[in-house]
Amino acid sequence: ADRFVIFGVPIDKVTMKKAVDIVENFLLEDRLHIVATPNAEIVMMAQNDDEYKEILNKTDLNVPDGSGVIFASKIYKEELPERVAGFDLMMELIKIASLKHYKIYLLGAKADVVKGAYLNLKSRYQGIDIVGFHDGYFSEIDEEEIINDINEKKTDLLFVALGAPKQEKWIYKNRNKLNAKVAIGVGGSFDVIAG
Ligand code: UDP
Repeated sequence: ADRFVIFGVPIDKVTMKKAVDIVENFLLEDRLHIVATPNAEIVMMAQNDDEYKEILNKTDLNVPDGSGVIFASKIYKEELPERVAGFDLMMELIKIASLKHYKIYLLGAKADVVKGAYLNLKSRYQGIDIVGFHDGYFSEIDEEEIINDINEKKTDLLFVALGAPKQEKWIYKNRNKLNAKVAIGVGGSFDVIAG
């Protein structure tokens, strides 16, 4: 796909509709796909963090999550079509998952927050299939158990809310162990959904 590269971080020239189409196709393939949502803050973080920059170059889709990167793309005459906020993409994917019964797993945020997000989503979306959730304050010893839970429940769509860059690093580190179809870092989204 056509990408705009800013300071070594690629961003796909996608609209919300196109991004949703791409993720729906990812869900049909039996391998993990990683989605990131670079904004100006993330591009800046990657300047002092080679590991993060490399990970952002190995994801399957990077959506333009901020007006800063849209503005920059105009200056470079490589226009990104529109802002695709990570939170908005998550809500679009939840709508589709509810209709098509894709299995969702929520990983991240504080225990009461992720539980609150789970309960709010369950009451708001008929047919939503949230197969599991776990808070984001676990130690490395717990990781195997969490990954087993994600895999045993046949998760399609894994939302990881550990904040950037932790969420992308966690997904990337565990990419060969995770059997989900799509993993996407969603920052503080669970806090918003929990209200
Ligand atoms: N978080 C977590 N584990 C951690 C650190 C952070 O689960 O070790 C959660 C935190 O509770 C919050 C989210 O990650 O829900 C980070 O949100 P923030 O808005 O800081 O992230 P950003 O959107 O800026 O990436």
